[in-house]
Amino acid sequence: MKTRIYKISEEVSESEYDYIKEAAEVIKKGGLVAFPTETVYGLGGNALNPESSKKIYGAKGRPSDNPLIVHISEFNEIYMLAREVPETARILADRFWPGPLTMILKKKSVVPYETTGGLDTVAIRLPDNPIAISLIRESKVPIAAPSANKSGKPSPTSAEHVAKDLAGKIDIILDGGKVDIGIESTIVDLTDGAPVILRPGYVNQKMLDDILGDVLRDPAIDNKAGDDIRPKAPGMMYRHYAPEGELTVIEGNMSDVTDKINELVRTYDEDTVGVITTIENRGRYNYGTVMYIGSRKDEITIAHNLYAVLRKMDECKIKHIFIEGFSNEGLGDAIMNRIIKAAGHRILKV
Ligand code: AMP
Ligand code: MG
Repeated sequence: MKTRIYKISEEVSESEYDYIKEAAEVIKKGGLVAFPTETVYGLGGNALNPESSKKIYGAKGRPSDNPLIVHISEFNEIYMLAREVPETARILADRFWPGPLTMILKKKSVVPYETTGGLDTVAIRLPDNPIAISLIRESKVPIAAPSANKSGKPSPTSAEHVAKDLAGKIDIILDGGKVDIGIESTIVDLTDGAPVILRPGYVNQKMLDDILGDVLRDPAIDNKAGDDIRPKAPGMMYRHYAPEGELTVIEGNMSDVTDKINELVRTYDEDTVGVITTIENRGRYNYGTVMYIGSRKDEITIAHNLYAVLRKMDECKIKHIFIEGFSNEGLGDAIMNRIIKAAGHRILKV
């Protein structure tokens, strides 16, 4: 299959809107379209068509028990998909939609089990991106869209990342440039009474606590694969976000961390080893490929750059990658969650 790639600006001009229409026709006919959201690029298909969902799993190589997030273009579409919409869902939508928050609700029967990985619940999100919203509106169906990467790889934050993983396997890529946030949505389960965070994201624990009181956190979030407690978001079980090279996180006070990394990198050939650091540590590394992810004072930039830097390391064919740990506060919670998963829990505390 030849993948058509169309550049679209966020203002979506009239001529660019023709691409959206063409993409919407593809969705209606059961095809696949990758599109930008504010979090990462999504790989979209008609959420109500089991064949579309099967194609999504096929293109990504995603395990079929890992459910898809269904994207809508306005709040009221939630009633088409969810059997019960608790007051909490309305409060959260009021505050965070459109935006990087996904809610798990009990599904209606129109949502096929192929979309929900066999679960009786459905994940729903209203994204904050005009290209995404136009596509959903024009398709006239909700769009199931996991991240548009090969299963297990770092999520795509640009259309080039999507093309690298999926060109030839999907119909269209809508290229809206680099995404805003760069890490996936926060997932909150609302099916069991008290809301529970299943995956940390841009909307952090404190932001949720501030409007709902104390919000629970699925203890399995911090599990290693193979641990006993089963995460409620099946996707949290799998190896994720991982570069080809072996990633190790070094945590501790900064001067110990930089010393340790400097010691470790020298145990490898210089052209096979890389370090991901921040501008605060500029000049502290002079062996191997050194990449800067941003400043520790600016977590938004770190989140924004994380997946692109991991993919860059792969482009440079780096086999052993060391990354400094970050604080778990605020957005740091989601950043560290992704880094630890990408590292397959290879963490060294110094
Ligand atoms: P992705 O779209 O690649 O960011 O992955 C979607 C995430 O949402 C995965 O971790 C899924 O396990 C999770 N998810 C989707 N639907 C549900 C659901 N009904 N219940 C729990 N988790 C879900
Ligand atoms: Mg994903």
